[in-house]
This record gives sequence, structure tokens and C-alpha cells, in this order.
Amino acid sequence: MTPNLPAVLLIAPHRSYRLAPFIDAARKLGLHVLIASEGEYSLVQDIATGIHIEFADTQQAKKNLLDVYHETPYQAVLGIDDFSVTLASEVATELGLQHNAVSASQLTQRKDLARDVLAQAGVNAPWHSVLDLSVDLSEQLVDAPFPLVLKPLSLAASRGVIRVNDLNEAVTASERIAAIIQDSDMAPELKTKLLAEQFISGDEVAYEGLLNDGELQQLAIFDKPDPLEGPFFEETYYIAPSRHPQIIQQQVHETVEAACAAYGLTNGPVHAELRIDNNARVWVIEVAARTIGGECARMLELATQQTLESVVLQQALGKSVDVNAIKGGAGVLMIPIPKAGVLRRIEGVLAAQKVPYVDDVVFNIREGEKLVPLPEGGSYLGFIYATAPSPAEAEQALRDAHAKLNIVTAPYIPLIAG
Ligand code: ADP
Repeated sequence: MTPNLPAVLLIAPHRSYRLAPFIDAARKLGLHVLIASEGEYSLVQDIATGIHIEFADTQQAKKNLLDVYHETPYQAVLGIDDFSVTLASEVATELGLQHNAVSASQLTQRKDLARDVLAQAGVNAPWHSVLDLSVDLSEQLVDAPFPLVLKPLSLAASRGVIRVNDLNEAVTASERIAAIIQDSDMAPELKTKLLAEQFISGDEVAYEGLLNDGELQQLAIFDKPDPLEGPFFEETYYIAPSRHPQIIQQQVHETVEAACAAYGLTNGPVHAELRIDNNARVWVIEVAARTIGGECARMLELATQQTLESVVLQQALGKSVDVNAIKGGAGVLMIPIPKAGVLRRIEGVLAAQKVPYVDDVVFNIREGEKLVPLPEGGSYLGFIYATAPSPAEAEQALRDAHAKLNIVTAPYIPLIAG
């Protein structure tokens, strides 16, 4: 380790796409980065020191990270993905570093418990009920306010989230979700249950913020201009700044503030999803104690010249940072997977890149890889970024660029071992 450089410990699942932007930001800030993950190898030879941990064995992982502290006393610890925020809180609590309470981090990983806490605090969140998969659903949904959304108690990226309009659809969807849950690395005791929620119709927004000792600093509100009516909820367009009236945006901010207070979140990044119903009421769908996905955050950089990861790292080291407001418009399209199969090729990339206001078109799936759409899959083909004089122009540029792409797939036919 280079003497005198402040050290930061990042805890990330193996192959996390949020990691690279954090390493990059840390390098620019002149920080010494330690990375704890399940990977066996150091990811960036020149600056990153790899620490191998097993997420499944939390106590051992915590002990390893505390041991590391005695050799390299890091000044901040960040869990940069959903699955590592609780471990980061545990380590930081033990060392007296800036952190969220462990119980607050845990709530961001348990949709059912989080809903209970919001209800107790009087924060506007949908009606909910936990369903037991081994008991007849008709008994459990007698008074349910259909349409509903069924979801696993603890998964991310909209995996296994399905809208159902009646009991028959609920039964079929629950079987499909049960298979997704079985296939996941969720804790065994969570695999026998589902969360049912009232479906809130209306516009969805994403909120990006930063907590400083309980004070919520708003970084951006993104509109999601495509209707998200189900049965599956694929994220597509994120456009900032929001075009909702200021009074609604203020309500969004206040609702996230109330939700964070209810969870007990006090420090670090906040990424929340909210819905605005037809009566202009704002509802909490989800609150996470992490940044928006690494690739999407690039849009903020294009629009504000500051990376979100840099702001988060500085805040973790106790330095509050003013973030420039987004001028004009900025947007990202998470390129949806058109259908299940194997990716053959993507045509029209150059044409998409040439669309005015488009900054970049990137893919994170290669030819020959399997494409799994929602609700089973949880990834995107890639991203298109645009910055423009206005949000409407940024959105239109993304739509025009997407229209230029032709995603060629082949049917998925598994090879049979000879
Ligand atoms: P995940 O954590 O897997 O992303 P969420 O609970 O955030 O799961 O749900 C994913 C998406 O599903 C949301 O962004 C939203 O579009 C939709 N959704 C989830 N719950 C509801 C609900 N109660 N009403 C309307 N839409 C919902």
C-alpha cells in the first residue's frame, strides 16, 4: 500500500458491474482501494488488492474484513450491491466507521419486512400480504385487492415480479415464481413464501440521493416514460431531469425521506423507485441503500461532469459534495432483451451511434450468449446514452437509436453431450 493514501474497502459480488466505475473514481481521487469479493483474483492489478470472502458465511467474511483492517486501516467501507450492503454495515459498525444501522441495511433486502415498517410509519406504500407457497392461494387471497403484483421476498432487477389480475393468474404466476426462487441463492427459509402487493397504476420514477447523517440530498429524479403495466416490469428508459410538476417532485423527495427514516437509513447512497397514481399520490415501490446500476450512473456523469461513484466515495470519507444539477436533458435506455434465445448478432449499431444527441451505445452480452427475458432473467442487452438540450429530445434520441438496432437471435437448443 502506498503510505498516506486514504484506504477504502469495497465489498462487491463477483463480477459486479458496479465495481469498475468505483475503482475508476477511487483512482481519480487518489484512494487506495481494497476489494472484497468471492472472486479468487485481484481485478485491477495496479491499484486493487483482492480479498477473498464467502458471502454465504457472513461471520467468517466479517472476521476476514476486520483482520484486513488491522493490516490496512481503511477509512470507509461500502457495500456496492444489494447483497453486500448488510455485511458492509456490520463491519463499519464494529469499526466505528460511517455506516447505516445493520437493521436498516437488512430491511432493504427484505421486501416483506420493509413493507411492514413503512406501514407502521404511515408511509404511502401498497397493501401487502405474505403468501405461504404450501397453502392454497384462494384461502390467502380472499380479500386481496386485485390486480396484484407477486414477487419474491428478496430478489432484485425485477426478477420474479409478476402482475396478476385474478386468482387464476395468481396461481399460475406463483408456480413460475416458485421455480425462479428455487433456482436463486435466496436463503432457504425465504424460498417458501411470496409477497403479494396491490398493483399501483401510474407513472414510475427513480430517485437517486445521498444520505449525510440522516439528511437526504437529492441527486436526480428520473422519469420512466414507458408505461410499466406488467405482467413483467422491464426497465427501459430513464430520463432526467424529471418532467413532473415541481410539487410532485417535492412529494417524491419527501416520500423517500420518510421511507429512509422508517427503515433507519442514515448514510450513503439511496436508490428508490416510486409510483405516482392517477390522483397524484406518490407511493414507495422500493428503497435500496446503493447507487443506481453502474452503467446507468454514467448518464449522470455525462450530464453533470461528476461521477456518482466519486460523490459516494467522498461522502463515505466524510466530505460532502455539491452535485451540479443536470442541465438540458440526459437519458439512458436499458436495451431490452427482445426474446429468449441465443444472441446471433446486433445490426445497426453504427447507425444508432450516429443519431444526434446519442453519446454511446454499449452491449454487455456477446454473440453466442443465452438471452433470458423477464421474469426469469434479470439483465439487459446493453445501454444507449443520450444528452440533449431537453429531456424530451434525449428521450427521442434514445427511441430513434433503439429503432436502428436489429437484434438477431437463434432458438436456444442445448447441446447434448456426446
Ligand atoms: P426488484 O427489487 O426486483 O426490482 P421491485 O419490487 O422494485 O423488485 O419491483 C420491480 C418493478 O415492478 C418496479 O420497478 C415496478 O415497475 C413494478 N412493481 C413492483 N411492485 C409494484 C406495485 N405494487 N405496483 C405497481 N408496480 C409494481
